[in-house]
Amino acid sequence: MNQQGHMESYGQPQPGYQGYQQFAYNNQHTAGVPTSQYGPYNGPVQGYEPTAAPQGPLRPTSGAPPTSLPPSTAAQSTAYNQYGQGDIQNGPAMTDQMQRFPVSQSYMPGGQPIAYQQYAPSPSNAQHLPNQMAAMQISGSTSNAPPPVSQSYGPPTSHRQTTASFPPTGPAVYTQYSTPLQNISSSIPQAGNPPQHPFPGQTVPASTYTSPPTSTGLTGMNLPPPPGVSRPTAMHGPPLPGQSQTGFPPSQPPTGHYPPQPNHRPAAPQTGMPGVVPGPPTQGFQVHPTQPSQGFIPQQNGSFGQMRAPQPNYAAPYTGTPSYSSQPQSQQKRLDPDSIPSPIQVIEDDKSNRGSEPFSTGVRGQVPPLVTTDFVVKDQGNSSPRFIRCAAYNLPCTSDMAKQCQVPLTAVIKPLATLPADEAPPYIVDHGETGPIRCNRCKAYMCPYMQFIEGGRRFQCAFCSCVTEVLPHYFQHLDHTGKRMDYYDRPELSLGSYEFLATVDYCKNNKIPNPPAFIFMIDVSYNALKSGLVHLLCEELKTLLDYLPREGNAEESAIRVGFVTYNKVLHFYNVKSSLAQPQMMVVSDIADMFVPLLDGFLVNVNESRAVINSLLEQIPEMFGDTRETETVFGPVIQAGLEALKAAECAGKLFIFHSTLPLAEAPGKLKNRDDKKLINTDKEKVLFQPQTNFYSNLAKECVARGCCVDLFLFPNQYVDVATLGLVTYQTGGSVYKYTYFQAQADGERFLNDLHRDVRKVIGFDSVMRVRTSTGIRATDFFGSFYMSNTTDVELAALDCDKAITVEFKHDDKLNEDNGAQIQCALLYTSCSGQRRLRIHNLSLNCCTQLADLYRNCETDTLINYFVKLAYRGVLSNPTKTVRETLINQSAQILACYRKNCASPSSAGQLILPECMKLLPVYLNCVLKNDVLQPSAEVSTDDRAYTRQLAISMDVAETSVFFYPRLLPVHKMDVDSDDFPVAIRCSEERLSKGGIYLLENGLNLFIWVGMNTQHDLIQSIFNVQSFGQIDSAMSALPLLDNPYSKKLRSMVDMIRAQRPRFMKLMIVKQDDKMEVLFKHFLMEDKSASGGASYVDFLCHMHKEIRQLLS
Ligand SMILES: [Zn+2]
Repeated sequence: MNQQGHMESYGQPQPGYQGYQQFAYNNQHTAGVPTSQYGPYNGPVQGYEPTAAPQGPLRPTSGAPPTSLPPSTAAQSTAYNQYGQGDIQNGPAMTDQMQRFPVSQSYMPGGQPIAYQQYAPSPSNAQHLPNQMAAMQISGSTSNAPPPVSQSYGPPTSHRQTTASFPPTGPAVYTQYSTPLQNISSSIPQAGNPPQHPFPGQTVPASTYTSPPTSTGLTGMNLPPPPGVSRPTAMHGPPLPGQSQTGFPPSQPPTGHYPPQPNHRPAAPQTGMPGVVPGPPTQGFQVHPTQPSQGFIPQQNGSFGQMRAPQPNYAAPYTGTPSYSSQPQSQQKRLDPDSIPSPIQVIEDDKSNRGSEPFSTGVRGQVPPLVTTDFVVKDQGNSSPRFIRCAAYNLPCTSDMAKQCQVPLTAVIKPLATLPADEAPPYIVDHGETGPIRCNRCKAYMCPYMQFIEGGRRFQCAFCSCVTEVLPHYFQHLDHTGKRMDYYDRPELSLGSYEFLATVDYCKNNKIPNPPAFIFMIDVSYNALKSGLVHLLCEELKTLLDYLPREGNAEESAIRVGFVTYNKVLHFYNVKSSLAQPQMMVVSDIADMFVPLLDGFLVNVNESRAVINSLLEQIPEMFGDTRETETVFGPVIQAGLEALKAAECAGKLFIFHSTLPLAEAPGKLKNRDDKKLINTDKEKVLFQPQTNFYSNLAKECVARGCCVDLFLFPNQYVDVATLGLVTYQTGGSVYKYTYFQAQADGERFLNDLHRDVRKVIGFDSVMRVRTSTGIRATDFFGSFYMSNTTDVELAALDCDKAITVEFKHDDKLNEDNGAQIQCALLYTSCSGQRRLRIHNLSLNCCTQLADLYRNCETDTLINYFVKLAYRGVLSNPTKTVRETLINQSAQILACYRKNCASPSSAGQLILPECMKLLPVYLNCVLKNDVLQPSAEVSTDDRAYTRQLAISMDVAETSVFFYPRLLPVHKMDVDSDDFPVAIRCSEERLSKGGIYLLENGLNLFIWVGMNTQHDLIQSIFNVQSFGQIDSAMSALPLLDNPYSKKLRSMVDMIRAQRPRFMKLMIVKQDDKMEVLFKHFLMEDKSASGGASYVDFLCHMHKEIRQLLS
């Protein structure tokens, strides 16, 4: 720990540190309109003035004489006593040793009007306080109920105060998933005479897709229909006028009308034109023929199990073997894909039911709109779903109930999530030198759930019930309702999310942290130069360094930067502002890594700009004709870590790396790729690191607040599972650009790099999740490290990272109190400020399982399943992992069937409304490359996907596992809206259509071979399908509405996702089409994954086995 000397040698004046003291939070509060804490890092810093004054020659080693600290910093440093970080979670000791920074007046007691305005989410809120209060107290369910017209349809909404006694099949809550009778074709399939496959409803208004709600409204699927049940007549024949070709040239010939082709599985046209009935996408569908009479009951339950009439190929009855995935079997019946729950329908219904009204968080246990719905959140005492989203908003009161239903009690927490511009970022609260107000016993932070008693002199903790004295400076009188008079003046009393300024007691070693540093570490071996990476990167860094994260209105970033290049050896650069030219110091003794220079390694960008630019000019030249192909990797991380240690700051390493590190060095790896292990018990080793060197290194990095971001540019196996480990455990991100060529992939890489460098990030973080008595957080999933069972340690956490938490009962819950969750994230901001971000969420509790099933969120459930499974593959065969997911899901659905659904025949599959997409989404998870790889997927790609998914939030997992497929030919060029998505199945594609598919990582435009020439011309600037160049990665810039609209769609989609998606053009029947089809998740996959229809039937069988 003899770092003092090193630190002092970095003791040049730190502008960011000064800025820290002067940083005025008042700006935000007085502005009335909230502005981002992490305001836009807009534009180059203006104040650059290269410091010309040369100083004495630098010594290249750590023996350099330390320069003295500026007096102010030194004085402060001495004021802090030693106080370990471990004390943080146990509550800091009160101390008045620290110097206070200017205290914001905004939240001081007093409740003057100006004070309210200073923190209020918006001025208008201030004028509606009585309304807010009223809404919170009396309007709970109604204010969030779907619009009247659809009150009994759509996802269950808020918990009602009266639902505790709701009958399990209460009419107003259970909703009917109606068979889209109107959409069923009347044509009976005949051999050689395919039925007209109806337009599946994507452009049909949601209301017509859905039958009017009926009294019971249970979701059900009937299997199979009795012979002779009459088919409903088709409501959709040829396209209705204006229905299918919005904004399209009227001259367009009918699309999708083409004859069946023997070798091409035809697609059901989206346009409603007569098409070819899809061939059986899979052969695995079976239904139980023994109870045919119990099958099709077009009753209130809303059945979606419509069967297609017998077809020649579907002969034999269900045999009872679990052959849901791939065995070709003859069949008697085939489930109509249009009659099973449609993700698109659910998404669109939620948009129309819940997208128009703001989601106010004042009511406990409300299920938020889906992540696919665009909605505004009003924080009224619970955290926004953008910060916390739960799988269940109504928890079972007892662990027995929880075990019975098997619904995981889980929350996906994204503490630093980016909010849309129209939502206020969390306010910063300063409780002065005593620090945040906390419960004496459990250390929960002051929040809206704390109950003030004895006239306001004490408060009772909502988490542990302990009573704590209110400190004199925090005292406030209560009003006649028992609320503090300053309730609305204090974010911590009235909002779900806010931040506290942390005192020195919350700082490592009781020292106010230095601003963080970014170190760029660039592989300069042969491959990295040859691909154009080094040149591209160095050129980009010259401007990118102007966009380092800045605090609020700060003029420049406080983050210092440093540079290292490496192959078999490491090169450090002195870029001190006083130098005329950068100086390189080579470290070839990589067995025991040290940093050869201290002063001049980490610098302020503006001060050292000339030297930095000179360095970035020179690097590509210096290594331009290198023949060195070997690299090291472990020493690179060690070097960055040592540099941060020496500078006594947290930070992030940006490592740009191209090859498997084969050179002799700590952390050297060997090529151990072996695809033969797939589907064996040893498959798990492919996901495990091949040496524990990196696990140990990761621990040290976390302890030092050293986050590692890894940009990989491999041309062959690089062992992502091992190289990515430190990244994974330090809260970093991995990016992978296989076969990188600057020309073709530069755009994607540079966009990712920009976003990664600029994004909101907290360093040296610890996250703790507290809960009220009865449940506790037992498991955590994400990119972090845990050295005990409660503290999630993150060297850094950025705005894109989510942590999934599982809760278990440790006692009984009760319906009156509900259950409370408080997530506290302690972190260092980009200017070196120590803060606590607090998120609170209160949930309902139930004694009836039906209440739980009414208040679930399948997307969040899937997020949890993904993370559970992706961790599971580290220690289990993938087959076991898949079976575990299926079993748990079947139990969830069987429990519903047994306890909540009205009695009906075993031949019916009845799904809870909130979970009717569980089978289709679960199937997507099971078919993903991690759990069921196709032949062409590399081991590295699987490890990469696994690592990406483990820190995804709900919106990301949602689209990643069930991609968005948009019919481009139906876009309305006069509207800002996207066309309504269609289901991910080949039979939904029209040969006459163009489609855009994205999943957050991949972006395709698929072009049908019969696409109208006008449209091809408008978009691709060529005359025919054959002339389209599928190698293009950007659409031509054409001055017509179709080109503009499509390019704007691509831009908007890219902007919505954390990673840049390279565009791929796929022409129908082209070689590349196999890649595209990989994402048609409702179809059977090349790797043997089941089609949706088949999997649903398999799930039904599993459920029936559990019930019998
Ligand atoms: Zn407590």
